[in-house]
Amino acid sequence: MTDASGGPAATVLLIEDEPQIRRFLRSALAAGPLTLIEAGTGREGLAQAAGRKPDVVLLDLGLPDLDGLDVTRQLREWSPVPIIVISARGREQDKIDALDAGADDYLTKPFSIGELQARIRVALRHAAARATDTGDPVYEAHGLRVDLAKREVTRDGAMVHLTPTEYRLLTALVKHAGRVLTHRQLLREVWGPGAQEQSHYLRVYVNQLRQKLEADATRPQLLKTEPGVGYRFAEG
Ligand code: CA
Repeated sequence: MTDASGGPAATVLLIEDEPQIRRFLRSALAAGPLTLIEAGTGREGLAQAAGRKPDVVLLDLGLPDLDGLDVTRQLREWSPVPIIVISARGREQDKIDALDAGADDYLTKPFSIGELQARIRVALRHAAARATDTGDPVYEAHGLRVDLAKREVTRDGAMVHLTPTEYRLLTALVKHAGRVLTHRQLLREVWGPGAQEQSHYLRVYVNQLRQKLEADATRPQLLKTEPGVGYRFAEG
């Protein structure tokens, strides 16, 4: 695992059959501190994941042998490695299915090197926090401060009063800041497994949270919509 201060480089496993994307990623990551290993099929990818123990997996959903979803499910049977799905635009349901199957995030092709690096950084940080269980109990971004230990929320220093449901939704988002969460994942976490299809609950409460937390609720900086997929809270 790596960070700005150095240390051994993180290893990225790319499971992708398209030569163009592989070439792009090879040159994109060559300059940085990441080591890239590649697999052109799902089976080869699973074997590499077991043998090389990568720190992050970049997974194409359209592979020549296995479906990317099956690769996700099989990996999740034995590995907590962060999985970032790379998928073509317009395949929202594929992305949702992959996230619900245990993928951590997704990138839509074509994506920029900057986007890719940011997503890898978030994935590595979440994995490190999970491993050491020292997730920072204080979240801060765009004037918002959430103290999870004290259950205190302030905006520009002023106390924000939230209902219990609003607070549960906010903590779910903050704990996964920087990562996309599907409607289903949020509904399950905040309202329980029986509410997974009640996406109108979510719309109502997201709107309420934006009114209370955002400087301009019509142009959210914190609670961003991922069209057709879910929501992503700004990185703290
Ligand atoms: Ca492909």
